[in-house]
Amino acid sequence: MALSHVMHCPECGAANRIPDDKQGVSGRCGACKARLPALYTKPLVLDDTAFDPFVSSYRLPVLAEFWAPW
Ligand SMILES: [Zn+2]
Repeated sequence: MALSHVMHCPECGAANRIPDDKQGVSGRCGACKARLPALYTKPLVLDDTAFDPFVSSYRLPVLAEFWAPW
């Protein structure tokens, strides 16, 4: 059985099964057809130009880890 995740629709609350290989792909709720936010289950590496646009537009909680080479 392939790994999958469950995302609750932000509009109607229905549980939607998201296959693990669909990371970063937006889908639609199976019940109400509302657009579901893309699900990220693995870390994304974002540089200083990509961080703000991603965080400000993403509708789910974001866990950020900051680091520097020095
Ligand atoms: Zn829905």
